[in-house]
Amino acid sequence: MEKVDILGVEFDYVTQQEILNILHQKIERNKKAFVVTANPEIVMHANKDPQYMNTLHFANHIIADGIGIIIGSKIIRQPLPERVAGFDLMVELLNIANQEGLRVFFLGAKEQTLEQMIPKIKREYPKLVIAGYHHGFFKGHEHTIVQMVKEAKADLVFVALGFPKQEEWIQKNIDSFEKGIFMGIGGSFDILAGTAKRAPVFWRKLNIEWLHRLIQQPSRWRRMLALPIFVKKIFQHKRKNSR
Ligand code: UDP
Repeated sequence: MEKVDILGVEFDYVTQQEILNILHQKIERNKKAFVVTANPEIVMHANKDPQYMNTLHFANHIIADGIGIIIGSKIIRQPLPERVAGFDLMVELLNIANQEGLRVFFLGAKEQTLEQMIPKIKREYPKLVIAGYHHGFFKGHEHTIVQMVKEAKADLVFVALGFPKQEEWIQKNIDSFEKGIFMGIGGSFDILAGTAKRAPVFWRKLNIEWLHRLIQQPSRWRRMLALPIFVKKIFQHKRKNSR
């Protein structure tokens, strides 16, 4: 598969539909996959932390989640086809799981979030099989959680521990599992549960979903500084390479 290297992170050159088809085929063949949905913050973090960069090298698919990644790919003149929001990819996979009665495991977020989310999943995706779920604050019980996921034999395992924890958890444990698509999806359970809201479609179309997030959670402003620094770094990198 064609990849586009952005500051050392190799993104799949895919549309949402293409990655969905690829993952669907892997599920049908009982293959395993480690999927990362990466935004500029993740790329910047990987550039600061070699261990996290190494974790990302284990991923089978890294998807461009965030308009910043698309802008970055344009700057280096290898434009990625489109943004694939982790949340949207998860919802599409849940739809497939519902149509085909697949087994899904939900790992992460607060216990109250799951208490709100699970009944909603049962209502909205009645034919999907909930293979298991557990909140994301399990320090000291790591082994029990791995055992739980192992016994669940899920086709899809959504890991909502936030980055870098979710990717580190997947890399560390994926060898213990027989099959499954393992995907880190950050705060998506909070959105499914209804405790956090996504930007309205209008904002998303204008590519300012990040602004909506900032307004909802002003404490994120420091994290969002990663975006301008990311763009600057890409320009520096491009200049260095064109010399
Ligand atoms: N979380 C968790 N365990 C932890 C830390 C965080 O389950 O040890 C959850 C948290 O409750 C939230 C999600 O991980 O649901 C992180 O969301 P955030 O929006 O910060 O992640 P991002 O999308 O930026 O990766």
